[in-house]
Amino acid sequence: APGLYLVAVPIGNARDITLRALDVLRGADVLAAEDTRSLRRLMEIHGIALGDRPCLPYHDHNGDRMRPKLLEALAAGRSVAYASEAGTPMISDPGFDLARSARDEGHIVTTAPGVSAAVTALTLGGLPTDRFFFAGFLPNSGGPRRRALEDLRDMPATLVFYESPKRLGAMLADAADRLGHDRPATVCRELTKRFEEARNGSLAELAAHYDAHPPKGEIVVLVGKGNLEKISESDVDRSLTEALETMSVRDAADA
Ligand code: SAM
Repeated sequence: APGLYLVAVPIGNARDITLRALDVLRGADVLAAEDTRSLRRLMEIHGIALGDRPCLPYHDHNGDRMRPKLLEALAAGRSVAYASEAGTPMISDPGFDLARSARDEGHIVTTAPGVSAAVTALTLGGLPTDRFFFAGFLPNSGGPRRRALEDLRDMPATLVFYESPKRLGAMLADAADRLGHDRPATVCRELTKRFEEARNGSLAELAAHYDAHPPKGEIVVLVGKGNLEKISESDVDRSLTEALETMSVRDAADA
């Protein structure tokens, strides 16, 4: 049937794809992908021929140029399947503007849902899952990253971050500093792949571990809720110093 199909693809193990997603990839008139090579390889693994169907690149850098072409196909009554490079479209991946434009123009928008690294990490991570907050990628540079972490400090939920291996050490150090050294956390690495790992510890322990053992691969960091009864002495000291500084700044301003 015509419409835009947002298709979830695996995050590692090629078999983590639903039967319906395979049906959609088999049946769509037009395929669009953040990375056309990886979509074609995935289809090949599952024995799906592209045939003479177009497989168009659609990503952050060409979205504005490619969207009209895909909308045109939808307007002509075609079915369009869109997959991002890994996992679920729009979860720290492109697809949002495409879905919104399609909806705005009155086309059917639907999904063949599936895996996402965020939910996979929560499933495996051993931290509470009743409430979670998806924070995606933090800013790359220190100052903005620390401010973003401060904004999340009191969130009453497990925090979910995507992070690159080369920034993990710095991110964990900043997280320990701003969220609390004793906060329980889990680093999930290479989910669904051969070297899958879920390492639990306090933020300070994990920062020390990955400082000594620089990681490889893809990473999700989970941070548990702050535990008010287990605030460490250094956290109390820091809060007191901050409060005193704020007070003296105010006093100075009032004077
Ligand atoms: N759309 C994807 C999803 O639904 O999870 C996320 C795409 S985002 C550009 C890529 C990031 O997701 C990686 O940097 C990593 O943080 C996380 N990720 C993706 N696959 C992963 C895996 N197999 N193990 C751990 N983290 C993964």
